[in-house]
Amino acid sequence: MAKLYIVPTPIGNLDDITIRSIKTLEEVDLILCEDTRRSKKLLQHLNINGKLRSHHKFNEHNEVDTIINKIKEGASVAIISDAGTPGISDPGFLIARTCLNNDIEIECLPGPTALIPGLLVSGISADKFVFEGFLPIKKGRKKRLSNLSSEERTMIFYESPHKLIRTLMDFKASFGSNRRISVSRELTKLYEETLRGTISEIIDSCEKKKPKGEYVIVVEGIEK
Ligand code: SAM
Repeated sequence: MAKLYIVPTPIGNLDDITIRSIKTLEEVDLILCEDTRRSKKLLQHLNINGKLRSHHKFNEHNEVDTIINKIKEGASVAIISDAGTPGISDPGFLIARTCLNNDIEIECLPGPTALIPGLLVSGISADKFVFEGFLPIKKGRKKRLSNLSSEERTMIFYESPHKLIRTLMDFKASFGSNRRISVSRELTKLYEETLRGTISEIIDSCEKKKPKGEYVIVVEGIEK
């Protein structure tokens, strides 16, 4: 049936894709992806041919109406991103919302995303949590951190290796040096590693060894 499927793909380990995701990618008429070269490799691994169309944060606004028309004409379309679940710190939200505005059905298949394994291996409460994604680099960063300084729920952030230490320093200023955090890198990959401790302890460890890979940071909420 003509609709949009949001299809999660592995965040490292290529075995982490569901049978239903593979079937859906085989059956759809078109697969939207961020980087065609990268997604081609995944599809080759899954023995799925062609059908890729570039759809990333720089062209999604220009592309969205064309895609909507294709679905209205009867095409079934899947969106994937470079890794994990589209729409989670990745393109996906705009096309999903535009489908809904046009009475086109959307379906999100469950699957890989970095925030959940990052949270669960942290050892910090997963009862209530808030996903903050990437902090703003400049504008709005201070305000966001200041708002979060009284957050009681566990907080989850994404960060790249070259900004990790700066972000941990900002956390120390906002949350205090003794707040418990965890820093996970390369989840599901060969060199998966999680450091757990106070913000000060984790900064010490990260300064000793140059950060490498992609990171999920989990911060304990403030005590009530
Ligand atoms: N859509 C993805 C998801 O569902 O998690 C997130 C995409 S976002 C552009 C990329 C960020 O996700 C990385 O900078 C890192 O913070 C996090 N990430 C993705 N894969 C990861 C992994 N294998 N280990 C740790 N963090 C990861």
